[in-house]
Amino acid sequence: MRKQENKAGVDLTIKNLADWHISYENKLFIAGPCSVESEEQVLQTALSLKQQPVHVLRGGIWKPRTRPGQFQGIGHKGLRWLKNAGKAIQVPVAVEVAFPEHVEQCLKSGIDIIWIGARTSANPFAMQALADALRGIDMPVMVKNPINPDLELWIGAFERLNQAGVTKLAAIHRGFSSYRKTDYRNVPHWALPLELKRRIPAMPLICDPSHICGTTELLQSVAQEAMDLLYDGLMIEVHVNPAVALSDAQQQITPEQYGAFMKSLKLKKPFTENQELYRKIIYLRKEIDEVDTQIIDLLAKRMEISRTLGIVKIQDSVAVYQPDRWGEIVRSRIKAGLKRNLSEEFVDQVYQLIHEESVRHQEMAQQKK
Ligand code: PEP
Ligand code: MN
Repeated sequence: MRKQENKAGVDLTIKNLADWHISYENKLFIAGPCSVESEEQVLQTALSLKQQPVHVLRGGIWKPRTRPGQFQGIGHKGLRWLKNAGKAIQVPVAVEVAFPEHVEQCLKSGIDIIWIGARTSANPFAMQALADALRGIDMPVMVKNPINPDLELWIGAFERLNQAGVTKLAAIHRGFSSYRKTDYRNVPHWALPLELKRRIPAMPLICDPSHICGTTELLQSVAQEAMDLLYDGLMIEVHVNPAVALSDAQQQITPEQYGAFMKSLKLKKPFTENQELYRKIIYLRKEIDEVDTQIIDLLAKRMEISRTLGIVKIQDSVAVYQPDRWGEIVRSRIKAGLKRNLSEEFVDQVYQLIHEESVRHQEMAQQKK
């Protein structure tokens, strides 16, 4: 995440969501339980979702649980239950696969769409094996971001699938593991999926607020943020009775809650035909451009000072890195930022980057001496 990619686009052959030949309106909404637990549970969940905007019914069959001893998924017998539940409400169904055998079982059971989970997309061996298993099979494949914030790894997963001839692809943003305690189960790092979209503009981008949030509290605001950023769809975990769910109980919502949730979601358009509004947007963009020019000027000025500082320090072999001074800078900048409505995480990250660049400039100046 720290090292900002600024690389050229990636040349992949990707079909539009419209070519998946499933019915959806503008946005693709995927809902369903974290895990298929029983025939009854998945059917009841589906039937309660019948009147809601759901285009794909999801359900985990093989579950990548962090610790053994937890519910590991119902296994292949659940595929038929899920498929029947999808049929009952006339929507295609999606399942997570991790091994070529899973792909085989899904094909046998008429599963319409598969997705690759965050632990699997982080593993190039597994990705290659799955790509090989999908060679010549024209089914939609969605790839969740790897658990670690590594854009190249995510892109590499798409490249492997594309090289095997898979063209119905979509990216699912489910957030990233973090050692630090945050408000999220998996921190969103919005810049990363947006950078994926910049490098592969044709890639449909779907947000999975359930796994980002880990609870139902922030679900609505994360989903809204995805819509504001013009994501192509959402994947939400919905369970007929979340309290007794065998996995991810805390983050699943009921079909009724899903209905209310979708009703209050505000969809955004990429542009407007309203002239007055358009002029306002142009004006504000101009203002942002000007502020950005100032930010670049100030950063350049700051680095100029760093270079001079580097030269002064070397005169008496003073170390470039001064932990106490650095700690004080971060603390005071975070405090100042908080007063101006900037989050601690944001100011901290900005200053980590400024510090890295500053050290680089000091060392550069010293080497020239
Ligand atoms: C899931 O969708 O239930 C799941 C296990 O997701 P992830 O791979 O994002 O953890
Ligand atoms: Mn889950």
